[in-house]
Amino acid sequence: MRPKRVLITGGAGFVGSHLAQALLEKENKVVIIDNLSTGSMDNIKQLKNNKRFLYHIDTIMNKRLMKRLIENSDIIYHLAAAVGVKFVIDNPLESIQINVRGTEILLELANDVGKKKVILASTSEIYGKNMDGKTSFKEEDDRVLGSTSISRWSYSCTKALDEFLALAYFREKKLPVVIVRLFNTCGPRQTGEYGMVIPRFIKQALLGQPITVYGDGTQTRSFTYVGDVVKAVIALAEHPKSVGEIFNVGNSRSISINELAQRIKKMTESSSKIVYVPYEKAYEKGFEDMKYRQPNTSKIREFINFKPTVDIDEMLESIIKDFER
Ligand code: UDP
Repeated sequence: MRPKRVLITGGAGFVGSHLAQALLEKENKVVIIDNLSTGSMDNIKQLKNNKRFLYHIDTIMNKRLMKRLIENSDIIYHLAAAVGVKFVIDNPLESIQINVRGTEILLELANDVGKKKVILASTSEIYGKNMDGKTSFKEEDDRVLGSTSISRWSYSCTKALDEFLALAYFREKKLPVVIVRLFNTCGPRQTGEYGMVIPRFIKQALLGQPITVYGDGTQTRSFTYVGDVVKAVIALAEHPKSVGEIFNVGNSRSISINELAQRIKKMTESSSKIVYVPYEKAYEKGFEDMKYRQPNTSKIREFINFKPTVDIDEMLESIIKDFER
């Protein structure tokens, strides 16, 4: 592939910074914009010396700056968003505004300044509550959400609106868009501050603090290593037939949160106790969790022959090492 001028919104975030690194390794020019709400300068410190890398610490709501950045790019990876269950519950207004208004501005500009290709990062949260013993989700499956009084569901709605908007731009204006629904992604540099379970458990285990399993721990998740996710997202962005399509990006293997806690305790040789915390205490009144969250990966396998290369123990090992550094 010919090197491109790439814009990454949310490029100082966990996934964004890994994506920036991978695109720089492919000789692209990479510009990022990030307001550091959940991202950090630390995430991009190893990229700052690269001559093909530029960063702007600003919000994607800054239309003037965004216009200039989009004009000067060939492709946009839109990752800037409110992320993390805890962050969304603690900051409901900001989450809705950034996810809806931010994406609206970006898509409008991408269309107006020359129909620039947009890769929209979406989420498995889109699928909502698990229904009828369903264990894996296909891209065209129904979405089942809880009441608007439970903040968690606003995240699913805002990202769904982003998808609707992107698809509407594609259908009506021929804006080239690709939608990637990321399932639980993990790897070095992810912080537990906004709720993500793996960095939380590892930190607790290393500090000898109680490992806090929410609910009864029988809920399962499918984790994918960030390096695999980033490779898949780039391959989908470059695939000639991916425009206008939605893809699950994830691992079809899952693990229960109980098993995860036990493995982390063992691998870190921690003396931490595993404790059980009711959801309502951990999050908010009436909080609802998904029992299962596993992607059906037929579509991504068909398009780019995607196979995760890092298994759960390798993921945990590399993250533990990163924490110990
Ligand atoms: N979780 C947990 N303890 C924590 C943080 C999260 O047991 O300290 C649980 C959480 O309730 C969920 C799973 O781990 O069932 C994954 O949570 P995360 O927020 O990482 O991802 P998501 O819920 O978005 O899949």
